[in-house]
Amino acid sequence: MITVLKNVEVYSPKYLGKKQVVVVGNKFEGIYDEVNIPKDFININEVDGSGKLIFPGFIDNHVHIIGAGGEDGFSTRTGEIQLTELTTAGITTVIGCLGTDGVCRDMRSLVAKARALEEDGISAYCYTGSYEIPVRTLTNSIKEDLITIDKIIGVGEIAVADHRSSQPTFEEFAKTVAEARVGGLISNKGGIVDIHMGTGKERLEKLFLLLKNTEIPSTQLLPTHINRSTELFQEGIEYIKVGGYIDLTTSSDPEFPEPGELKASEGLKKIYDLKLPIEQVTFSSDGQGSMPKYNDKNEFMGLGICSVKSLYDEVKKAIIEEKIPIECALRVITSNVASLFKLKDKGEIKKGYEADFVLVNKDSLEITDVYGKGKLLVSNGNAVVKGVFE
Ligand code: ZN
Repeated sequence: MITVLKNVEVYSPKYLGKKQVVVVGNKFEGIYDEVNIPKDFININEVDGSGKLIFPGFIDNHVHIIGAGGEDGFSTRTGEIQLTELTTAGITTVIGCLGTDGVCRDMRSLVAKARALEEDGISAYCYTGSYEIPVRTLTNSIKEDLITIDKIIGVGEIAVADHRSSQPTFEEFAKTVAEARVGGLISNKGGIVDIHMGTGKERLEKLFLLLKNTEIPSTQLLPTHINRSTELFQEGIEYIKVGGYIDLTTSSDPEFPEPGELKASEGLKKIYDLKLPIEQVTFSSDGQGSMPKYNDKNEFMGLGICSVKSLYDEVKKAIIEEKIPIECALRVITSNVASLFKLKDKGEIKKGYEADFVLVNKDSLEITDVYGKGKLLVSNGNAVVKGVFE
């Protein structure tokens, strides 16, 4: 199958101008100024891209694909994600995680769900483990999981500075990261340790210590939820300055923000204004995680579910409200994630790369079409490919 997108403005995420984008099978064949399509040739799918922008497919590095929660009893467990929730949000690559509960939810189910999403037409991976250290792995060790299981590309989300964490010592934490490092090297995967940051005062202390006292590079760690409070965000800024990478969570309830919480778009704006390297920043949605709601008196107001839709919504806000250039804002959900996680041929519109892309209206930036591995998944905002039980 050959698809030619005509007269579309390309953000690779770098702005390349108005181009003709050719897709053959599941790859980008090339990006051209002119393409003359021969008559009486094999069937070519021509798509008019005028008035549209093309972005690389979005990568969400932290989604509870088999559900999460359960922190207020079994009835508070959230459900599995459906394919079209991801695709209509422009997400063509997802990294799944467990969360607080590594007993009722396990690695087998997580790997199975990643495989199911892959069968459905997107790219899906997962982390090994849950909040706790020692990590409950699928095989005998973190190293072995990374080396022998295709779908496992990192470790996490490991909880620190949180009342729900297993309260690991620095040594236990460092040993976990060290295993991820070697497992990642041998398997040629990122081996990223995704770290859930809670509201505890310890904040990023273990991460600073690790960078200071070991030879492990900063690219091994990705602390997430950094925008959950002003203090944590401030420390996140210092962490970027010593070479660290941070992840901002896009899900939040606008009616019930956590005290001191920053929107991911606002956080990105601060980093942008400080002229810190944007390459060290990623966004993720925390999709399907449970979201406790507290009113301004800090009274519990019930539970919501984090939505993957927030991933692009926050990037859009960063562009429209915070006036960050598109090619800069887009990186946090495309090329930055692909390069940190070593996702080969992902996150860019580039010859030879996988043809995952999103078309948006130039004026509104609303998603119209989504393609995964060269195949149309969402057309005019409607999912045309659905999961088996949708
Ligand atoms: Zn978390």
